[in-house]
Amino acid sequence: MNIGLTGGIACGKSTVSSMLVRRGAILIDADRLAREVVEPGAPALAEVVRVFGQAVLMEDGTLNRQELGKLVFGSEEKRKELEGILHPPIRKLMLERMAEYERSAPDKLVVVDVPLLYESELEELFQEVLVVYVPPELQLIRLMERNGLSQEEASKRIQAQMPIEWKKEWADHVIDNSGLPEETEEQVDRFWKRKGLA
Ligand code: ADP
Repeated sequence: MNIGLTGGIACGKSTVSSMLVRRGAILIDADRLAREVVEPGAPALAEVVRVFGQAVLMEDGTLNRQELGKLVFGSEEKRKELEGILHPPIRKLMLERMAEYERSAPDKLVVVDVPLLYESELEELFQEVLVVYVPPELQLIRLMERNGLSQEEASKRIQAQMPIEWKKEWADHVIDNSGLPEETEEQVDRFWKRKGLA
């Protein structure tokens, strides 16, 4: 059984995925897969270099993310081009990993943490989607605190994503992480039991 886990930035995806892992779930982290597909030797890295130039490589042959970020910054077209290179291999790797775990651990819950699940239209890949929710005002405060950002910087990052309220509407399951961690744990317990995972 698998679920996609998402939510807005700083809503508590990592917090909730750790709670699920402590109960025995297997975690696949989409951000990690995104790094794997551009490791030295990977075809997607060669393609990124072909399109964006040698300047996106460090001396040791690894991707210079900062430089690449600068090159696509502010250009919708370049960002789309980059996504066109990276998204297909990330998606492929995600499906491969999910299939591997389905085979090796069929009775475990496989949780796939995908921050931009809805933005990237990936909901079809998962049996169900779980959204970790906090109201936007709290999301802003938690993001400012965690990343040491000003209100303006934090707002900008939040506004670059789809509104958390929409994600909550679309979800199969919602975990409200606006209370104490114990209250979130209780909801995770309820979710776990409802899925027959107890
Ligand atoms: P995400 O993975 O969605 O970006 P995190 O799990 O990192 O979010 O949580 C964002 C921040 O909020 C972190 O600093 C985390 O410690 C804090 N946090 C998460 N859940 C709670 C909670 N229930 N109460 C207080 N702080 C929380």
